[in-house]
Amino acid sequence: MVGLGPRPPPLRQGSKTDLPQNLIAQIRYLEELFTVDTQKLKAISDHFVSELDKGLSVEGGSIPMNPTWVMAFPDGHETGTYLALDMGGTNLRVCEITLTEQKSEFDIIQSKYRMPEELKTTNNNEELWDYIADCLYQFVETHHGDCTKVDVLPLGFTFSYPATQNYIDEGILQRWTKGFDINGVEGQNVVPMLDAALAKRGVPIRVTALINDTTGTMIASAYTDTKMKIGCIFGTGCNAAYMEEVGQIPKLAHLNLPADTPMAINCEWGAFDNEHKVLPRTSYDVAIDRDSPRPGQQAFEKMIAGLYLGEIFRLVLVDLHDNEEINIFKGQDIAILRKPYSLDSSFLSGVEEDPFENLQETYDTFAQKLNIVCKLPELELIRRLAELIGTRAARLSACGVAAIAKKKNYKSCHVGADGSVFNKYPHFKARGAQALKEILDWPEKSNPQEEDPIEVLAAEDGSGVGAALIAALTLKRVKAGNL
Ligand code: BGC
Ligand code: MG
Repeated sequence: MVGLGPRPPPLRQGSKTDLPQNLIAQIRYLEELFTVDTQKLKAISDHFVSELDKGLSVEGGSIPMNPTWVMAFPDGHETGTYLALDMGGTNLRVCEITLTEQKSEFDIIQSKYRMPEELKTTNNNEELWDYIADCLYQFVETHHGDCTKVDVLPLGFTFSYPATQNYIDEGILQRWTKGFDINGVEGQNVVPMLDAALAKRGVPIRVTALINDTTGTMIASAYTDTKMKIGCIFGTGCNAAYMEEVGQIPKLAHLNLPADTPMAINCEWGAFDNEHKVLPRTSYDVAIDRDSPRPGQQAFEKMIAGLYLGEIFRLVLVDLHDNEEINIFKGQDIAILRKPYSLDSSFLSGVEEDPFENLQETYDTFAQKLNIVCKLPELELIRRLAELIGTRAARLSACGVAAIAKKKNYKSCHVGADGSVFNKYPHFKARGAQALKEILDWPEKSNPQEEDPIEVLAAEDGSGVGAALIAALTLKRVKAGNL
């Protein structure tokens, strides 16, 4: 390759001992800073259990624990054709799902649309709804023909932000997360906003259910695997849903529903420890929060989710450059690295995935993308730092899973997980499984092939198939006259 400058030499055996003293000390320091030991994991998950309880109480706590009006697991015999809209952080996806007569089977067609970056922080929320209505219009025209001649289609709207729901087709946005900051939506019911845009554009669609991605993930996974009890997202944001009983939800007591009525709860656990009692936050976590559009919110999410992992990494590197005693990348212009959010979590994945012993790919990426030529010891520090940040995220995530399992006394179950970090970040699953084992004190397995008592597995498509199933379950309930 040209223009990269001298390539790093191959690493020698035991190269760590060749690191300059100040870098060795620095790596040790970072290890201490980012490592969460077993005892701490246990303390965090114990506190987590009490926070889940608090969220269900009348007074409430910092974890919202939102009732979702998803009141049953699917039995696999759901049928019909439904549209699903997934308003994620990166893409807008429209699907048409047909739940077929065959048990637990479905057909899906889908289109992805880009979510324009400027829309995420627009002052005028109508721009957002109009854009979505346009995408839906295009989808219906493509697959059903003339919008004026099509019968009204039911839509499951996956809106993956914390929302208060008094009904399943209502979603009052509690607050934007994941860097979204659109005026005039917080505190409002988003369903009429979308409906109005659909009516204006002449799109024959009705929102049947508003769904969180975690609830969709749980339901979609349970459609094909009855051991699935919890749905998780480890992606741009992070969160989980599980099935509660109404009798265990004091804040719904006024509805006088039978105590054993099932009710899916969207935990919104990203807000765990917003009061900073147990999480081992570093000065970098504090800085991320301070400079985010919503300081003081989503404390747990900001240490774990894909949106933030690259940013934590970037902040550490800038700090180690600016610190005169350490001064990595000495004498180089790090202007590109100084740009907030310039490194995403796939950048970090890349560093962890570098197959070369001398970290040649990392060297090339730094040279090409950041205009920084790394010395070998610096590359070693970079790799270790990526491992530390990725490991901390996986281990902290396990605290949430363990907390739900403890609260519900699940000794053995499957957890359906989705999201870019879960699916693409190297070692995330194994690191999370190791942490769960430590927290829940599982004995060594006699056979390594054996399942763990609680296995976190790749989920079915929650925002597509899950949304369709929830729409189907809702229409079934309406038909039966239940609520
Ligand atoms: C949102 C949740 C969502 C999660 C994963 C969080 O920022 O508040 O509603 O489930 O991201 O997408
Ligand atoms: Mg999604």
